[in-house]
Amino acid sequence: MSKTAIKNFHAVSLKPDTKGVFLDFDNCLYVYEPCHRSALMSAKNEMEKIIGKSHDFFALYTTAQDRVKRRIPKAAASHSRLLYFEAMFELLGMGSMIEKSLFLENVYWKKFMEKMKLVSGVKKFLIDCKKKNIKIVIVSDLTAGIQFEKMMKLGMDHLVDFVVTSEEAGAEKPHKKIFQLALKKAGLKSHEVIMIGDSLQKDVQGAQVLGIKALQIIHE
Ligand SMILES: [Mg+2]
Repeated sequence: MSKTAIKNFHAVSLKPDTKGVFLDFDNCLYVYEPCHRSALMSAKNEMEKIIGKSHDFFALYTTAQDRVKRRIPKAAASHSRLLYFEAMFELLGMGSMIEKSLFLENVYWKKFMEKMKLVSGVKKFLIDCKKKNIKIVIVSDLTAGIQFEKMMKLGMDHLVDFVVTSEEAGAEKPHKKIFQLALKKAGLKSHEVIMIGDSLQKDVQGAQVLGIKALQIIHE
């Protein structure tokens, strides 16, 4: 494990002059994969009620996701589950299936959010930062609506000072625009903050380009 890697939030020790913490969200504050897997299974069950079981749901989902990501690379909307489900229906020659696409999006996120739980030490870390007047900024690649809902669901909304999403920044990590907007919102300089995230390329290296110190969280 490198010097900049941590296993959980108990292992984070901040320098006394730290004025802000930038936090990645997905697969940093909670573990992404089990939530996604359960959510996708729920969507599969509902989708099969609509189109039957003759199609390989997972292959179709992957093809639809690839199609959306090719059309809108490096933008928040490239993660839109609504667009993925719409593209699945379109691949099947069924058109956009507005009501069903919306329904499946809701099924997916409802199950996803039911499964989410904060990883060990996050709540205490956020509360400690609050007590020390250290600003917390969530820096995340997705649309604001879903991320705000997730934060409400996790009961951490009152502990966050600012949120910067790629939807708002107009660029995804590791692009410097998203980190620059986070610095601007918090009114802080690069040397006053630290970034914590799970992606070496997006979170750690993205922050380091601007001279922001960074830690990578690797869940056990
Ligand atoms: Mg992440």
